[in-house]
Amino acid sequence: MNWKGLSTSPCNLCPRECLADRKSGQRGYCLEDDRIYVARAALHMWEEPCISGEMGSGAVFFSGCNLRCVYCQNYEIAEGRKGKEISVYRLAEIFLELQDKGAANINLVTPDHYVMEIAEAVLQAKKMGLKLPIVYNGSGYEKEEVIQNLSGIVDIFLTDFKYMDTVLAEKYSKAPDYPLVAERALDEMVKIAGEPVFDEMGMMQKGVIVRHLLLPGHKKNARDVIRYVYEKYGDKVYISLMNQYTPFERLKENQEYRELCRKVTRREYEAVINYAIELGVKNAFVQEGETAKESFIPEFDGEGVFKEDLL
Ligand code: SF4
Repeated sequence: MNWKGLSTSPCNLCPRECLADRKSGQRGYCLEDDRIYVARAALHMWEEPCISGEMGSGAVFFSGCNLRCVYCQNYEIAEGRKGKEISVYRLAEIFLELQDKGAANINLVTPDHYVMEIAEAVLQAKKMGLKLPIVYNGSGYEKEEVIQNLSGIVDIFLTDFKYMDTVLAEKYSKAPDYPLVAERALDEMVKIAGEPVFDEMGMMQKGVIVRHLLLPGHKKNARDVIRYVYEKYGDKVYISLMNQYTPFERLKENQEYRELCRKVTRREYEAVINYAIELGVKNAFVQEGETAKESFIPEFDGEGVFKEDLL
């Protein structure tokens, strides 16, 4: 790994480059200093089938987020220090405990602001016997030089591609550079992970899955994301189209976001799926049935974070 030019104090790890002095306890835009906070580490069934499988993905939910979208589906952990502080060594132990529980992989959820510590923990855990594929489950708003450093650490990128529209990226995530940043990051991910590889059970061992959460009223943005990804990478990248957007009460307080105060309709979702089919997309995941429910969002209750929690 070569973290040259990247630092957590002053922090320039992500495209925000907010320069927080995290080692001195200053929190960045991501709301975190240099202490690792984890809100949950448990088997998780709600990812794509080739990630969750029968046993579940070994999901580690980190607190904080550098993107902090207004409609965030995990805002409890994205916006508050909901979680428990742990060391790099404890993080490595958690990976091994998830492996012992039968996890299909280690799934790092919102890892960007802790990427250096996570890379260290993965290397430690590998020395201690970790064999599972490592899944980097991020927002897509990542520096390409950070992604380059994940070669040999991460096997699968399960990455969001939220916007091709800079106006939406600014309005909902205060990140007008999101499309450009995400394009560059994705390019690095595809270079690192290469063609998708599955085991005999159909579980992904290597590859890239691009997720797009359809937002109410924003079919065009979804179509633009699908077209970009498919035209550039074809069948090399899986596209996961998600309809699980859940409007939270707090959004209703702000008139500016009133368009987000409803679920995505079946018609909207089908129109986006049909667009992907017409384009020729074959490697895709779609969601069936009622997925837009808060009950699909896990409890961020610290499960699996401390050792005594296992007793
Ligand atoms: S990772 Fe956090 S502290 Fe670092 S630049 Fe990004 S938002 Fe700022």
